[in-house]
Amino acid sequence: MKLDFQYELDHIGIAVETLDKGFEFYRALGFEDMETEEVPSEKVKTGFLRLGNRATLELLEPTGEDSTIRKFLTKRGPGIHHICLRVKGIDQILEQLKSKGVRLINETAKQGAHNCRVAFIHPASTGGVLIELSEKEKNG
Ligand code: ZN
Repeated sequence: MKLDFQYELDHIGIAVETLDKGFEFYRALGFEDMETEEVPSEKVKTGFLRLGNRATLELLEPTGEDSTIRKFLTKRGPGIHHICLRVKGIDQILEQLKSKGVRLINETAKQGAHNCRVAFIHPASTGGVLIELSEKEKNG
């Protein structure tokens, strides 16, 4: 299978203490607002900043003490949390990775923000980067 151009950068996830605090710098850059959405399943509030090339920055604020973002902030402080690649055929890709022994955090895709199905790949298998795969749902 030829994989060139199959993947696009969807967003970069950035852990912040609060969306307001995290947004201050981007306001200084000239961003006026962000689109916010709560993802209860992940115990996070997200703030999306649209960039020019279809990619976004996703600020991530924890909404519970057991949020993975809370744990990340406690351990490492605010900063880049993950990189998300936009894909087509996420189920096939996950099967392909499994067959190659890649360690997945989500064995199957789950519901994410913005009507997407997402799955995370463990940094132990990617060279230290938490990678999210995301596929836009076809209907809605
Ligand atoms: Zn993300």
